[in-house]
Amino acid sequence: MSSHKHWYPAYVGIGSNLQGPARQIDEATDLLAEIPGIQLFSVSQKYRSAPFGGVEQPDFVNVVAALLTRLAPQDLLGTLQDIEIRQGRERNNIRWGPRVLDLDLLVYSDWKIDEPGLTVPHPGIGERNFVLLPLGEIAPELVVPGLGRVAGIPVNMDEPSVSRIT
Ligand code: AMP
Repeated sequence: MSSHKHWYPAYVGIGSNLQGPARQIDEATDLLAEIPGIQLFSVSQKYRSAPFGGVEQPDFVNVVAALLTRLAPQDLLGTLQDIEIRQGRERNNIRWGPRVLDLDLLVYSDWKIDEPGLTVPHPGIGERNFVLLPLGEIAPELVVPGLGRVAGIPVNMDEPSVSRIT
C-alpha cells in the first residue's frame, strides 16, 4: 500500500439496511479506527432514510465519518471494500438494493479523481440527503470540490425523507 508522509482529511459515508444496521455501522467505524494510516476523528449521529429507487426493502441507517489518513485514495477505497466484505456484504448486483454495509469515499482533501472504479468527490454528495445531512452536521464549512461549502448545498426536496435517530 502506498502511504503519504502527510495526513489528509477524508470523509466516508456508511450505510446499512440489513442484519442490525446500527450495529453494522458501529462495527464498521470501530474497524476503520483500528486501521494503521487512519485516524478517525468524528462520526455523525445516525440518520434513518427511506430506501431509494423503488426496490421493496427496509429503511437505511446512514452516518458520515471524518478521518485523517495517510493512505492514498485508491488504498483507502480498498480498505473500505475490505470492511464491506469482512462484514458479510454480498455483491448482489441489485442497483439500489438492500445491503449489509456500504462504504463510500465521499471526499479526499481537495482532490478531484475520475478514474475507473474511483470518482471523488463521490457523485452522491449533492444528490442524496442521507449523505448531505450527516455531512452537514459534522462538516458544514467543508468545501467540496465542484460543489462548494456543504452548508450551501441545497437539500433535495423530491427525495425520500431523512431523519436523525435520537
Ligand atoms: P457501491 O458499493 O454499490 O456503492 O458501488 C461500489 C462501486 O463504486 C465500486 O466498484 C467502486 O469502485 C465504485 N466507486 C467509484 N467511486 C467510488 C467512491 N468514491 N467510493 C466508493 N466506491 C466508488
